[in-house]
Amino acid sequence: MTAQTPVVRTRFAPSPTGYLHLGGARTALFSWAFARRFGGTFILRIEDTDLERSTPEAVQAIIDGMQWLGLHHDEGPFYQMKRMDRYREVIAQMLEQGTAYYCYSSPEEVEAMRERQRAAGEKPRYDGTWRPEPGKTLPAIPEGRKPVVRFKNPLDGDVSWNDVVKGTITISNRELDDLVIARPDGTPTYNFCVVVDDWDMKITHVIRGDDHVNNTPRQINILKALGGVLPEYGHVPMILGADGEKLSKRHGAVSVMDYPAQGFLPEAMLNYLARLGWSHGDEEIFSMEQFCGWFDLDHLSKSPAQFNPEKLAWLNNHYIKLADNARLADLARPLLEKDGAVFDHAPDLPAVIGLLKERANTINELATAALMFYRQPAPEAALVEQHITDAIKPALADFAARCATVEWTKEAIAPMIKEVLAAHKLKMPQLAMPLRLIVAGQLQTPAIDVVLQLFGRATVEQRLKNYL
Ligand code: GLU
Repeated sequence: MTAQTPVVRTRFAPSPTGYLHLGGARTALFSWAFARRFGGTFILRIEDTDLERSTPEAVQAIIDGMQWLGLHHDEGPFYQMKRMDRYREVIAQMLEQGTAYYCYSSPEEVEAMRERQRAAGEKPRYDGTWRPEPGKTLPAIPEGRKPVVRFKNPLDGDVSWNDVVKGTITISNRELDDLVIARPDGTPTYNFCVVVDDWDMKITHVIRGDDHVNNTPRQINILKALGGVLPEYGHVPMILGADGEKLSKRHGAVSVMDYPAQGFLPEAMLNYLARLGWSHGDEEIFSMEQFCGWFDLDHLSKSPAQFNPEKLAWLNNHYIKLADNARLADLARPLLEKDGAVFDHAPDLPAVIGLLKERANTINELATAALMFYRQPAPEAALVEQHITDAIKPALADFAARCATVEWTKEAIAPMIKEVLAAHKLKMPQLAMPLRLIVAGQLQTPAIDVVLQLFGRATVEQRLKNYL
């Protein structure tokens, strides 16, 4: 980028026809980061002209997903449905300038035309019946028929652009139709609205999924006809499942908002998505601040990225370990409550989280692991029989007696346990397992001294009493 480069303006332009999926979120992330990198502007535009498929719930889902990820827009959201007057104005201008024309061919005629072309082995396209040319007489307008408006695509030459991801792409104008830009009721069509918006919003870099690459030559031609400055285009390959198939529900959650529900942190998701189709040397773990400092369009991968849930879980574990215990506790508390956790006279949740987070891949795992601290222990009868034997009870009684006087820190509890073991000639598990069952109701817990400390003296003493 040089001093003359216009200030960067990028956009994310979802169609609100469903949830925000991972591919969309990654496109948004790249556009956002690129604007951040160059002190530019990131615009959110809602492409809601497909009235049958667009819903307010989907708009909300997109906004929620962006909010959760922290991808804040600087301008917008702009809704295409609110810009209809502007599109009509541009269509009127184009009709007047002769870069667009009324076409009265009926849908049946267009279909028949295509059939003929297909039969003759040609590529089906509008045959130009209503396309005005110097010296050409147009047919008589059929009674009462409402016209569409078609863009007068150049007949010869090529459209070429240097795609920042895919390299130079050249399409012959012969391949392109005179695109319908307004329907018989005057409503503008999808490709046309995108062009007017990118033009009006002074977008400098269009970063989008490569499912749109076929639209680009048409959009470029229209933008040129309007006298607009062409943005840079970058078409990002799609995200595939681990099996190489297009990412879908089969591969797990594809909606971004399923991830907070499954206990993922936004920073893990952002880091994961950033590396999905983009690289910076060997860096795997980085903050959004670093990412925005590094992100460029030159290191976007040309080949599709594969979604790897294990890597996402690994990153989530990394960010859980870094996260503040109080924040994790706030996220875990509602899950624990749903499972019947009782917090009165119970161990401090952030402290419990601090103890357990090392091994948790998700907040949900963390909550499940923490539950033992917040419910009445109910160990399985078979385990009680196996571990809390008459032979071990004198040692448990000795332990209970010492609980009354020991300083209640893990540093003091640990040597006290050793003394009991020595006095009764026991090995650690012979005492630790019964204690775990009695106090926590299960055999899997972190180190017994910390667990006892967290439960607190009163609870430990009271639970021991039930067995002695
Ligand atoms: N609305 C399009 C979509 O959701 C994106 C269009 C664009 O980025 O140009 O796929």
